[in-house]
Amino acid sequence: MLQDKCGVIGVWNGPDAAHLAYAGLYAIQHRGQEGAGIAVSDGDHIRLHKGQGKVVDVFDADTVKNKLIGNYAIGHTRYSTAGGGAMRNVQPLHAHLAVGEVAIAHNGQLTNAATLQQQLEEHGAIFQTSSDTEVVFHLMATHARTSFMDRLVHAVQQIQGAFSLVLLHRDQVVGVRDPNGFRPLCLGRKEDSYVLASETCALDLMGARFIRDVEPGEIVVISRNGVVSHRFAPPQRSHFCVFELIYFSRPDSLFQDRSILEIRRALGRKLAEECPAQADIVINAPDSSNAAALGYADASGIPYELGLIRNHYIGRTFIEPSQSIRDWRARIKYNPVRHVIEGRSVVLVDDSIVRGTTSRRLIRLLREAGAREVHLRISSPIFAHPCYYGIDTPDYDQLIGHRLRTPDRIGDQLETDSLHYLSHDGLREVMQATANLTSYCDACFTGNYPVPIKFS
Ligand code: AMP
Repeated sequence: MLQDKCGVIGVWNGPDAAHLAYAGLYAIQHRGQEGAGIAVSDGDHIRLHKGQGKVVDVFDADTVKNKLIGNYAIGHTRYSTAGGGAMRNVQPLHAHLAVGEVAIAHNGQLTNAATLQQQLEEHGAIFQTSSDTEVVFHLMATHARTSFMDRLVHAVQQIQGAFSLVLLHRDQVVGVRDPNGFRPLCLGRKEDSYVLASETCALDLMGARFIRDVEPGEIVVISRNGVVSHRFAPPQRSHFCVFELIYFSRPDSLFQDRSILEIRRALGRKLAEECPAQADIVINAPDSSNAAALGYADASGIPYELGLIRNHYIGRTFIEPSQSIRDWRARIKYNPVRHVIEGRSVVLVDDSIVRGTTSRRLIRLLREAGAREVHLRISSPIFAHPCYYGIDTPDYDQLIGHRLRTPDRIGDQLETDSLHYLSHDGLREVMQATANLTSYCDACFTGNYPVPIKFS
């Protein structure tokens, strides 16, 4: 079954709801580049436009202006594992239920979807997609002779794992967050409209003001009655994904009103305290580690330099002249600034090492540009376990942190002069001090999975 690591948007009562959703999707494009879609309701019918690729590839002005007509909208940017980009899995998903048309978009991953699908199929359900999100529709459909809300509550009480959902039904836009609160979902307001978004950077682009996060275990229903909150599960210990704060979310987003950029900078400062280096310059691995590298430079007193420049305009490359250009993949994406690097001892700061491919390539490029030494510093603990709650990660056998286990062995393989990671205690301290976060999901670092995984 496919896994979706995505971003979601909702717009209630926007005179140009599709435009607002479109703007919101642009802001959360980093959460998924394989597909995008918007569903719009005029209070009666739902119109849907979706496709594979980035927001810019999927929508044109005519579609947004003339085809997606209605004041209520939800949107989705999709990021799935390899082979999962098929058109039928692109969201929002849309269905005709006994209570009317419904559209849904999902960020996260359901851990019991395969079991539920099997049970539903035994009772006659015919699945149209291979996306885990579709079970929500079937659970709603089979809870017969009840209202939209009763069906939704019934469905979200059956599903497990990570889910930040937005749904569209007639003139209602609904947001749901799983009881662990793995993935973010926030509520904002723009004049007489309400919006929902995976991250606050989308509110900024939509011109909306942040009101609050949707709480774990909460359903918010936005309708003519305003914003009405329902609890479908009791509050419990937070399992917000700490990797959202380390890497996945945009640094200009806020987490509980705190700047993610500042959180990352504090991780970099802590890293410098725990793992100093003798070096001439600190450089970032653009762009996700920019803030951590700044923090490392702040605390170490070593000057921060722009030693690697990232090309943002690559798209899908179809030529790989591996014979003629060594390290083509690295070179097309990153270029070292020789003038900055040559003859210098460098601290390269990155937020994580997953397969090890990026770091190995960057280190090689830096050495070829004349770096005397390359010391790698990572602003999170060793990434040694796959995520089953909505971040796209490879299986155990491809995780260098799982295969080699220790910084020394990993560093040898990456050909660093030294490699150090932030400690678990250091991460905890920074999360408490800067994000007021005392409890979170760190399964990718510890293997402690807060919700059991039942994939078959
Ligand atoms: P890797 O080359 O597999 O070691 O990937 C690590 C690099 O990709 C780091 O520079 C991270 O900033 C970034 N990264 C971390 N997690 C992910 C992810 N789930 N998907 C894509 N890139 C990631």
